[in-house]
Amino acid sequence: MKHPRDYAGEKIVVLGLAKSGVAAAKLFHRLGAVVTVNDRKDRDQCPEASELEELGIQVICGGHPDDLMDEQVKLLVKNPGIPYTAPPIQRAQELGIDVVTEVEVAYPICEAPMIGITGSNGKTTTTTLVGKMLESSGLKPIVAGNIGRALCEVAEEAQADNWMVVELSSFQLKGTITFKPRIACLLNVYETHLDYHGDMEDYTNSKAKLFAQQTKEDTAVLNWDKAACRKIVPQLQGHVFPFSMQEELTYGVYVEAESGRMIYRDLDGKAHVILHKDELGIRGEHNVENALAASAIAIRAGADLISIAKVLREFRGVEHRLEYVREHQGVTFYNDSKATNPVATIKSVEAFKGGIVLVAGGLDRGSDYMELLPVFGKQVKGLVTIGQTRLKINEVARLAGLTAVKTVDNGDNAKEAIAIAVQEAWTLAEEGDIVLLSPACASWDMFPSFEERGRMFKESVHNL
Ligand code: ADP
Repeated sequence: MKHPRDYAGEKIVVLGLAKSGVAAAKLFHRLGAVVTVNDRKDRDQCPEASELEELGIQVICGGHPDDLMDEQVKLLVKNPGIPYTAPPIQRAQELGIDVVTEVEVAYPICEAPMIGITGSNGKTTTTTLVGKMLESSGLKPIVAGNIGRALCEVAEEAQADNWMVVELSSFQLKGTITFKPRIACLLNVYETHLDYHGDMEDYTNSKAKLFAQQTKEDTAVLNWDKAACRKIVPQLQGHVFPFSMQEELTYGVYVEAESGRMIYRDLDGKAHVILHKDELGIRGEHNVENALAASAIAIRAGADLISIAKVLREFRGVEHRLEYVREHQGVTFYNDSKATNPVATIKSVEAFKGGIVLVAGGLDRGSDYMELLPVFGKQVKGLVTIGQTRLKINEVARLAGLTAVKTVDNGDNAKEAIAIAVQEAWTLAEEGDIVLLSPACASWDMFPSFEERGRMFKESVHNL
């Protein structure tokens, strides 16, 4: 795509009225483009529409008109979640119109260098950590995108001495063309989002787009323990900065096997201790991985090791990610509503030593729940299932020989269902146990969002 200001006087379409769509529409309108925003949802479900109309932006709700896309349209900015099978996107592709996401729009107008963080799991935690580390080192980060304000909203304000720290999903990356982050990080690649991407190849290729435009002054921070990350090294132009939990690297950030200390080894081979992994304020091995990744990124951005270690000691995690809720008569409750795939749930289960009663289930996106088999009947001693996938997960429990299983069928009333699930889990738990909401599934079969699912869970726990 061209620079956004070069669309002045031209027709562009923004598809999807969420936070990013609104920000992109306003930006193009300010820059003089003729903007039409379209959303499939009915008008009464699009509260943002009036604000845009008052500015003089055309908003069409309640479906995609057949004549939305024509030769006059020069650009289609899509909400990352809208699948490429949506008719306006198909039509745009037939007409040879660029189809991009908000990050591609924001990139050319942002004067600050960008840090892009992607991966199947751990993005929000790592991005939040990086923001705090840079802040603590006086490096003026702006954390935007999925966390914080929309990228298009803050891109114009950013100065050359800021760092723009952005969490990026594969959906966002698929819609990039020229995007070139100064520092890019790939945390991991697990089998997820296959309903959107169709296959693993499309998913992995979307993630790899993060590095596609990088040149030698840029940095690729990679998880050295993951074959999927190492595999892309031959395609990279940027400086490779690895991190590892398993290998004592000659350069990069790693955990020293014998001592458990997190070490940064610089290009001269000199080792610097960051801190001991047991000092981390967040629990679980997956969070050691996130801490290594964040440290690697922050080091490349110029943060100092003392500030990095301080943040790692003090940071207690993001809401809905292994969030402590309460202890009630010897049973401790945790909210991990953001665990939306089986790998995330396994990592969270493994973060605890005691017995766990797991509350799981949700939207069926075709994931393989057999992945949960090894923890069922071991750490997971009881199971309460909810949502579309409840019977599939029950079947895995049956194969694992786990018998303490309860099913909540009340899918129509999410609040009631989660309250029943909490009650059932509480009944199954014994003193010293943990009740963990870690669904292994997205939330949209029953809840408007994973945040709402987590909030309802916490409310039910507090009502016990
Ligand atoms: P994302 O933004 O990628 O969804 P989050 O940081 O929000 O990641 O974490 C979501 C969930 O994913 C956590 O609750 C945890 O269960 C799991 N998780 C976090 N980091 C990792 C990791 N590095 N590897 C595997 N699972 C992880």
